Amino acid sequence: MRSDTSSESADVLDQPVASGNVRCDACPVLCIIRPGKTGACDRYANVEGALSRLDPLVITERVHREGGEVVPFLERSREWQGELLSDAPVFVTGVGSGTTYPDYRPAPFIVSSRHADVDMVTVVTEGIFSYCGVKVKIDTDRFLGPEQAAIRMDDEQVGHVTTAEYGSQMLALGGVRHLTGGTKREGRVACSVLERLCNREAVELAIDGGSRVVVQAGMPPVVDGEQEVRMRVGCGSATIGMFAKQWLGHADEVIVVDDHITGVLSEHQAGRFLSMQPAGIQVRGRKSTPGRYFRVAEPGSGWGGTNIQDPLDIVESVDPERAWPGLRMLMVSTTGEQSAWYVLDDRLVPQPAPMPDVIAKAVARIKENCEPALCTVLFMGGAGGSLRAGVTENPVRLTRSVKASLTRVTCGGAPVYVWPGGGITLMADVSKMPARSFGSVPTPALVVPIEFTLPLDHYRELGGHMDSVIPLETVLAQARRTAAEWLPENPWPFRIDPAFPA
Ligand code: SF4
Repeated sequence: MRSDTSSESADVLDQPVASGNVRCDACPVLCIIRPGKTGACDRYANVEGALSRLDPLVITERVHREGGEVVPFLERSREWQGELLSDAPVFVTGVGSGTTYPDYRPAPFIVSSRHADVDMVTVVTEGIFSYCGVKVKIDTDRFLGPEQAAIRMDDEQVGHVTTAEYGSQMLALGGVRHLTGGTKREGRVACSVLERLCNREAVELAIDGGSRVVVQAGMPPVVDGEQEVRMRVGCGSATIGMFAKQWLGHADEVIVVDDHITGVLSEHQAGRFLSMQPAGIQVRGRKSTPGRYFRVAEPGSGWGGTNIQDPLDIVESVDPERAWPGLRMLMVSTTGEQSAWYVLDDRLVPQPAPMPDVIAKAVARIKENCEPALCTVLFMGGAGGSLRAGVTENPVRLTRSVKASLTRVTCGGAPVYVWPGGGITLMADVSKMPARSFGSVPTPALVVPIEFTLPLDHYRELGGHMDSVIPLETVLAQARRTAAEWLPENPWPFRIDPAFPA
């Protein structure tokens, strides 16, 4: 089926649609779809004169594992005879459900079910998010680009570098200014990047004044063609503290090279506690506190996220009053991936030397303590009027209920973090959602599954659309659905709050 549509403006909305065509009103584009064709988003089609949603509704199920055998609930439900399903281990997600546009309609599925003797309701919909973006965490010390540097795809800016967190570089992509505040092309490119990242596809981004990085949720980053393997064990100072005892007696000085804080063992508090003799090796950079140095070099792809390739470049001087011939010195990066062993000669010049086994083992211990480097993609968006009106005629009550933890919000069944303050602004880890949960429409905006789960009585109090509540069995009986296994690490959404019976 091929997209073959036109869109209408509001003043032609009243005009009749040509015979055989259908008008889709699931988003502001208002496609007119010819027979056998799809709308601009490929999510709706004209099937024999009826507007039809193409993707199936995704229902997740907790599988029972008895005697090692997996027994999916939905297998049994095919033989369902109409009995009341109490504590059914299934959850109807918003994936494939449909939208509430243009805001006056109840959500496409408002599903009642019974859990632990409590009547519950889950309001299931797909939100059209133009106020949205992703936050990307990339586990690497490598320099990706200056803070605030533009991040581009196909020469369009789609986001910017924010800052570094502990062992990770952070990017902000999308957002309303790129989606709708720039040119049409910028908006479409940004929306495409967001959709692909949220659907866990690999996306290569170019950062002004920095690197090209391939980002894919749950996968190692690839920076300038090189796959990152390890996330650093800590900053240089923390590494000194963690491993100081293992080096004691085997090295006279250890320098952990780090773009953030370079640590110098004999000068560091850890070395002093261990009564180490000051070694007189002075490193470059700005001294913060004893044994901790900022900015020993510029950021880069070298040792410890600096731009240096030869670690001796950060040694500014050797104090002849303190250092001594034969002094043994380890220089190592925060991942242990780079290391070198030196012995001072009679002129107090560090000379490379074979690394003793005990030191090589200590370096290997640093590597062993590094976690795998991964990319993490969090969707972030604000639930607007359309979404909330689809849940209740009095949307502010829903906001209050969510803030009071009386209503649980999930995206494709995945838990979300709801920001404090006004509105329902949430973040969701896309790796905890079913595959291909996200879609888009050309306005441009992302289409995102979202569910609100709460006790039925509370839903009535909120002014919910009680006339639209349908039993879970009705949803299960409909053909256009598919099943996905519930991710065991996701909290089951019916366990809303300790204040409610589980
Ligand atoms: S782009 Fe909007 S109007 Fe067109 S088919 Fe998709 S949801 Fe319907």
